[in-house]
Amino acid sequence: MSLPRRHVADYFYPELTAIAVAPHGGVCSSEVTGFPDRQVQQAVFDGENDDPGLLANARATCAACPALAACRQFAEVSLDDTTFLAGTTAEERSLSARRAPRTRHRRAVVERMRRAGVTIPDITFYTGYPTRSIEADLARSERDKTARIA
Ligand code: SF4
Repeated sequence: MSLPRRHVADYFYPELTAIAVAPHGGVCSSEVTGFPDRQVQQAVFDGENDDPGLLANARATCAACPALAACRQFAEVSLDDTTFLAGTTAEERSLSARRAPRTRHRRAVVERMRRAGVTIPDITFYTGYPTRSIEADLARSERDKTARIA
């Protein structure tokens, strides 16, 4: 009997989590008030229920969460594009990332992934960034590092 092959996403999980670690101790990991039941709560934080009243409750939950600062940082640097994090939906984060300087964001993501040992083709695969842009970002960050040392 042969062992099942690991999916590529499982294989890369350690590298991808090195980019940013999801916060521990979040209030949303236990049952909180304001949701009809635990499943509905889970669906809202999983980004599968965008009922305005429930989202308002999720925002209030995040505002009182001791892990809010870490969660906000995770939301900014991770590649998460589905879940409700740090009081924001994935769509809201995507809109604000579009307004923010895109290039700076891409450079930060590329640099973190390379530091974690992810190859350029895999960065392209996971982020959708063009290979040329990734190579240019890495070359630029090398130049910046050299300039800082000199
Ligand atoms: S800030 Fe919100 S999403 Fe993040 S851990 Fe806390 S309750 Fe969960």
